[in-house]
Amino acid sequence: MEKSKVLDSLGIQDVNFGATTGGSNGWIQTKGKELVSTSPIDGQPIARVIMADRRAYDSVMEKATAAFASFRMMPAPKRGEIIREIADVLREKKEALGTLVAMEAGKIKAEGLGEVQEMIDIADFAVGLSRQLYGLTMHSERPMHRMYEQWHPLGIVGVITAFNFPVAVWSWNALVAGVCGDAVLFKPSSKTPLTAVAIQNIIAPVVDKYGIEGIFNLVIGSREDVGEPMLHDKRIPLISATGSTAMGKHVGEVVGGRLGRTLLELGGNNAIIVTEDADMDMAIRATLFGAVGTAGQRCTSTRRIIVHSSVKEKFVNALVNAYKQVKIGNPLDESTLMGPLIDGRAVSDMENALAAVQEQGGKILYGGGTLTLEGLEDGFYVKPAIVEAENQYPVVQEETFAPILYIIEYDTYDQALAFHNNVPQGLSSAVFTSSVHYQETFLSHMGSDCGIANVNIGTSGAEIGGAFGGEKETGGGRESGSDAWKIYMRRQTNTINWGRDLPLAQGIEFNISGE
Ligand code: NAD
Repeated sequence: MEKSKVLDSLGIQDVNFGATTGGSNGWIQTKGKELVSTSPIDGQPIARVIMADRRAYDSVMEKATAAFASFRMMPAPKRGEIIREIADVLREKKEALGTLVAMEAGKIKAEGLGEVQEMIDIADFAVGLSRQLYGLTMHSERPMHRMYEQWHPLGIVGVITAFNFPVAVWSWNALVAGVCGDAVLFKPSSKTPLTAVAIQNIIAPVVDKYGIEGIFNLVIGSREDVGEPMLHDKRIPLISATGSTAMGKHVGEVVGGRLGRTLLELGGNNAIIVTEDADMDMAIRATLFGAVGTAGQRCTSTRRIIVHSSVKEKFVNALVNAYKQVKIGNPLDESTLMGPLIDGRAVSDMENALAAVQEQGGKILYGGGTLTLEGLEDGFYVKPAIVEAENQYPVVQEETFAPILYIIEYDTYDQALAFHNNVPQGLSSAVFTSSVHYQETFLSHMGSDCGIANVNIGTSGAEIGGAFGGEKETGGGRESGSDAWKIYMRRQTNTINWGRDLPLAQGIEFNISGE
């Protein structure tokens, strides 16, 4: 699909407004600064957005507050029908939106389409969920009493997203929060504003049909005008924030300071353990996708390989061979496996990390450095790097959001597990092994300390059905499948006395004397 066709099909103009309460009439004539969205593919502008100023933010919040008051009255299965129709319009626009994701975020088109597929999958999941927002019933300790718990809509959910999953993360939050009866205030990364505008345009016919303006809101704006006001706003009971650990610590402090709820999805430092009896071919393929896919810009990207000393040489040789075959280039070309980094800052972060690891004692085994591609001279292309390192090096302990893979050697499995867990982050993890003992140890309480632990599957590419998120400095949040919906609702425990006496809990007697 050509660029102009993609933009037309998604209703992207040369200049777009950065705030809407949803639907075809919800766009607000914003008056903030202009934001130019440039493509990392060639450094050229795609289109512009006039950002939301403080007034636009306030008017969106007023509309969202009013909309929530009526939306929560709609039965959950009816809300599910709306999400089902959102899945339908996403299916129609999958090709265009997936292509725009590739253009704006720089991931290869197959991954852009995969991201939109994730939106469709979570929408389908949410439709089923709309009939399954179950509470528990309990046996009361008192006669003729009934106890149960129920889940009520929470309110307005603030959704702050990272550039690298510009559309899927919105859907994980917004579509589940939608069936839960909440309103959503979406603040995308300023690096990927157009995909956010496109989402609003795609769902506009559904919003119009059901008259739910104010439920799916968007505000694109600066930290001062939008970001910070969201964090401090007591009308927003939950902030779901995806991004770096530094950002998450700040969000946690500010929102925690007003005793608001947070769902934090932050950085990872994901490792694969390759044992002496691992299937090498599978381990190599999983490592390649995990470390080079999305140019190493996934929260679940593989950043460390912890490999047994007896197979290290064989593994590294095969991996270097595989890296040599990776075609780096325009992510819109079907044969490309690795596109550009998001911007110049990401390139210098990678260069700085490679300089640091060498100073700290590491050795580059393959790659590193920038690439200038014909016709794409202003794009941000790098060669993915493989580096021999030790786990305790300060730079190995950090997440560098780039395709750098550290190779760490081990002798005993206990040592491998210790290396594995000895980083501040705890998102995704994997072991490649044929041994049941190694496998089960990895999955036990003595094994991986991450939110996601896989066997003979790499660290990236999670399915929507499970709860997604990680421990330690990854933030502790869970979103997407399983029972992650509970964070978007408030739980209420109810006790009903259907007898004619008033017994107290714990057998307490509290009678007025003389009775
Ligand atoms: P980032 O931290 O720079 O920005 C993330 C979002 O936070 C953006 O929308 C940004 O505008 C916003 N933000 C920053 N400061 C804010 C403030 N004071 N108030 C309100 N909002 C603020 O991250 P990025 O570079 O866009 O994304 C890369 C990072 O995201 C990596 O660390 C990656 O691991 C992480 N990530 C995590 C997950 C996950 O699910 N765990 C998923 C994707 C990305």
